[in-house]
Amino acid sequence: MESTAMGQGSMTDIIAKPSVELMAITPNAEQVIELACRTCYLSFHRYNPPASTEELIKKIIRKKHHSVLEHAMATFRIKGGSRTFTHELVRHRLMSPSQESQRYVEYGKTRNFDVVLPPTIEKSEFKDRYLEMTAQCERFYNEMVKADIPKEDARYILPGGTTSEIVISANFREYRHIFEVRCNPRAHWEIRNICLQMLEVMKTEAPIVFDDFEIDRENHSARLIES
Ligand SMILES: Cc1cc2nc3c(=O)[nH]c(=O)nc-3n(C[C@H](O)[C@H](O)[C@H](O)COP(=O)(O)OP(=O)(O)OC[C@H]3O[C@@H](n4cnc5c(N)ncnc54)[C@H](O)[C@@H]3O)c2cc1C
Repeated sequence: MESTAMGQGSMTDIIAKPSVELMAITPNAEQVIELACRTCYLSFHRYNPPASTEELIKKIIRKKHHSVLEHAMATFRIKGGSRTFTHELVRHRLMSPSQESQRYVEYGKTRNFDVVLPPTIEKSEFKDRYLEMTAQCERFYNEMVKADIPKEDARYILPGGTTSEIVISANFREYRHIFEVRCNPRAHWEIRNICLQMLEVMKTEAPIVFDDFEIDRENHSARLIES
């Protein structure tokens, strides 16, 4: 997946790839989850990480005692995804988003005007027309803003492929749900690729909680392996 500048010099300048950056995560997240869970049984005498952490977290995931996973949170900054992608992502109601506003950000001034170029279009005979039409939208947008049309109205002409920066926060239970439905091979390729990048990070940061997600790199997807 890649995004491309609209109307900044050549229309075929390929500029950016989507990126995810882990901004914050609960310190010692898996131990926090274990200790929260042990409160239910007052079994602190069994706290002996890392062995006890792995044993208990795997057990609570198997038994679907998932509420204890809500004690750990993570925040990601996502750049280079389209508005089409963010529209899908913000449907997750237990996740908190803060997204760049097309009412306030002025394209071409505050930041470059990018659009995602879907791989099927990139490989097709429509690529050049797609880039031409998105550049036309940008020119028309600029013309309207210059003529004092408010940005909140001029933006109606912007394509769904326009990139949009977003920061999201959620607890680990919600991330498991998001990865389960969005990394699945049936999900839309863009949200799948971006969620897969976040899953890779979470597998490193919280390897026990996300251990049961099996990544298929060849097919850019992941599945939850139920035990
Ligand atoms: C492959 C795919 C195709 C899709 N196609 C469409 C489509 O064509 N049209 C469309 O509109 N949407 C579509 N969606 C979006 C989908 O319908 C959901 O809005 C989105 O996936 C968020 O899922 P969620 O509600 O399970 O999760 P979240 O909002 O993240 O909530 C997480 C979980 O919390 C619980 N929960 C949250 N809110 C409530 C509540 N109010 N009541 C009870 N339980 C709650 C549920 O268990 C839920 O699974 C699609 C999603 C996928 C993955």
